[in-house]
Amino acid sequence: MKSRSLFRKRLLSWYRESHRPLPWRSTRDPYSIWISEVLLQQTRVNTGVSYYERFLDRFPTLSDLAEAPIESILQVWQGLGYYGRARNLHRAARILKEEFRGEIPAEPEVLERLPGIGPYTAAAIASIAFDKDVAVLDGNVTRVLCRAYGIEDDPKHPSTRRTLQGLADKLLPKGNAAIFNQAVMELGALVCKPARPECPVCPVKGICVAHATNMAERLPLRPPRARIPLRVRVVAAIEVRGRLLFKRRDPEGLLGGLWELPGVYLEGREGNKEGCRRIRKQVGSLVTLQCIPERSQFSVKHVYSHFEESIRVFLCKGKSVAKEMSRHRAEQTYRWIHPTRLAPYPLTGATRKVLRGLEQGKAEQGG
Ligand code: SF4
Repeated sequence: MKSRSLFRKRLLSWYRESHRPLPWRSTRDPYSIWISEVLLQQTRVNTGVSYYERFLDRFPTLSDLAEAPIESILQVWQGLGYYGRARNLHRAARILKEEFRGEIPAEPEVLERLPGIGPYTAAAIASIAFDKDVAVLDGNVTRVLCRAYGIEDDPKHPSTRRTLQGLADKLLPKGNAAIFNQAVMELGALVCKPARPECPVCPVKGICVAHATNMAERLPLRPPRARIPLRVRVVAAIEVRGRLLFKRRDPEGLLGGLWELPGVYLEGREGNKEGCRRIRKQVGSLVTLQCIPERSQFSVKHVYSHFEESIRVFLCKGKSVAKEMSRHRAEQTYRWIHPTRLAPYPLTGATRKVLRGLEQGKAEQGG
């Protein structure tokens, strides 16, 4: 079809002139490309660049990653969120080392069997690192195709996804998948942006249905979002001689293996008092608390993908129970840590917000 060949031609010539020189674009190393693709899921490119460099600096080869303790990977990942990605990278690296002689497979179907690699990431690695003729379909590609081809159905619906994948497959120039895939994604990131697409400078404006029909800002269709629930958490900053008590989250759950201040979610009609009582029960064998004040010191908000939390922070002085603590130290479940010595401990994003609030409080009091 003429419009498909025009789309390809104009897009590729625009990409040659206009693409950003990102560090993962100057390599064909499958390991580096895999890391970049996982990092960029749910992460902005500018943020991704510094993490990519730091990550490869710390774990330059697949073998380094497979042999590293998960703590050190989470520590490099700290601040990026969606920590399941880091744990899946680690698991996949171990599988690749043990079952694939440390080599990354080129076939998308095989890649998809590894933890943390879905259809998009598999297609990206197979095409960019191995020149396989497979088309990627991420948020940027979806947006560009919905607009350019005037697709007005819900892009999340399985049948629309099939239509979009079919279209992307047909557009893909055989033997040039690495460049083409990156070009469509780059167009979505730089020109055909979610809000205010820059149609006047777009290389495919002459064949774009959304541009011709003034629909660019209305596509792709966005079905109304369900409101996410709000949960209230009470958190205790328990201090003994300048150190705070930290708890390590269950390695298997949400934010698994990260450290945070002890806290509980309020249930039903529970108020701060009940919450503080439950925290006291939780840490009672580790520390004798001198007080848990009635009123929280301050609150912070933190948003996850499926819920939002309001965190009420309570300051309390305590007296450590040394015998119990040594067992928890060995099991890495609780630890007293001075706020200036937190660097080796990967913290949850919410905990970093709480610590900033505590710092600010001290500064305001001149402490
Ligand atoms: Fe997107 Fe506008 Fe280009 Fe169409 S012309 S692909 S809507 S930027």
